[in-house]
Amino acid sequence: MRVLILGGDGYLGWPTALHFSQAGHEVAVLDNLARRGYDEELGVQSLVPIEDMDTRVTAWQQVSGKTIKNYVGDLLDADFVYETLREFAPDAVIHYAEQRAAPYSMIDREHAVYTQHNNVIGNLNLLFAIAEVNPEIHLVKLGTMGEYGTPNIDIEEGWLEVEHNGRKDRMLYPKKPGSFYHLSKVHDSHNIEFACRIWGLRATDLNQGVVYGLETDATKLDPRLATRFDYDSVFGTVLNRFVIQAVLGEPLTVYGNGSQTRGFLDIRDTVECLRLAVENPADRGEFRVFNQMTESFSVAQLADKVAEDFPGPVQIERLTNPRVEQSDHYYNVKHTGLVDLGLQPHLLSDTLIESLFDIVAAHKDRVNIEALAPTVTWKRPAKEPANA
Ligand code: NAD
Repeated sequence: MRVLILGGDGYLGWPTALHFSQAGHEVAVLDNLARRGYDEELGVQSLVPIEDMDTRVTAWQQVSGKTIKNYVGDLLDADFVYETLREFAPDAVIHYAEQRAAPYSMIDREHAVYTQHNNVIGNLNLLFAIAEVNPEIHLVKLGTMGEYGTPNIDIEEGWLEVEHNGRKDRMLYPKKPGSFYHLSKVHDSHNIEFACRIWGLRATDLNQGVVYGLETDATKLDPRLATRFDYDSVFGTVLNRFVIQAVLGEPLTVYGNGSQTRGFLDIRDTVECLRLAVENPADRGEFRVFNQMTESFSVAQLADKVAEDFPGPVQIERLTNPRVEQSDHYYNVKHTGLVDLGLQPHLLSDTLIESLFDIVAAHKDRVNIEALAPTVTWKRPAKEPANA
């Protein structure tokens, strides 16, 4: 199949591109390099050095003999999106290309507006381009488990059978997202469902849990193929951040009482879930939703696990939660759709965490320690009038 991966320069996009190329698909990546710009803005960098896209693509050619086509451009540029779809003529488009950090979207008004504009309009441009260039294209869109929040009922895969005043319907599962970033994904989901229902597009929305890990079968083949690994309080996902804090001898920072529970998955399962979704497309007119996670953990459980596995002393520090989120809540997620397609999950293991310790130790000189402390708060302090 011909697969176009939007956000192909990112943490998940690049390993996904390699995984599809390795599986024999024709692959192109598209990215506007915004993620590298956020690094400059925040004064951080990937813990593991990453090459630019030209070097990555050349390295893959040398290692595998396979070609990955590289498009540099912005999903906000609608003409560019239409032209890319016409030129590459994909069977499937995997859409990772969004601003993806909840804290980044909560910094201030500008960052919230940027996030929702970038994510919602980029996705809308893509929906129009697919509908007008080739409505047969299967859109595989990355949503997040954070769209659902933590409702006090079981979380279904995207849809809910509702009985109300004696009548029944199948409705989109109600969402209770926890940041302006997560809200952008909810808006995307509604726009995609609408495009499937009204224009007959075919789409899979993958509500993904928090991803951990660094290496896949393909990225391991050459250091130039490494993907990014973020540790800072804005972009670092929680398990990756705890591993880095342990290696640096810094306390693992647990927000609040640590009872917040989330769905997680290994990066090797992310790339495999994407392959399964693309190779088993949704039908025309179908808005298919999978909950892409393999296990649930509370933040405190993860901190304890890292502390147990690390071969030295580890301190766990409880910080006032800068986020506004529920603690001690119910969390029971249905996630059978991808397993039914053949996913064989890699569950969180001691060996994975141990191998991450070694990778982190090799690059610890690159860390900006100050970037570990949370600086973004969900609360809005009242602003003083300018002339006060
Ligand atoms: P990432 O930030 O590393 O990658 C996203 C890429 O998209 C970046 O390279 C960025 O430059 C690009 N991009 C952003 N806006 C763009 C635009 N307008 N046009 C073109 N390119 C643009 O993020 P990631 O961790 O690889 O996540 C990929 C996707 O998966 C995101 O949509 C994210 O919301 C979703 N997701 C990630 C996680 C996780 O734990 N990493 C969990 C759940 C969902």
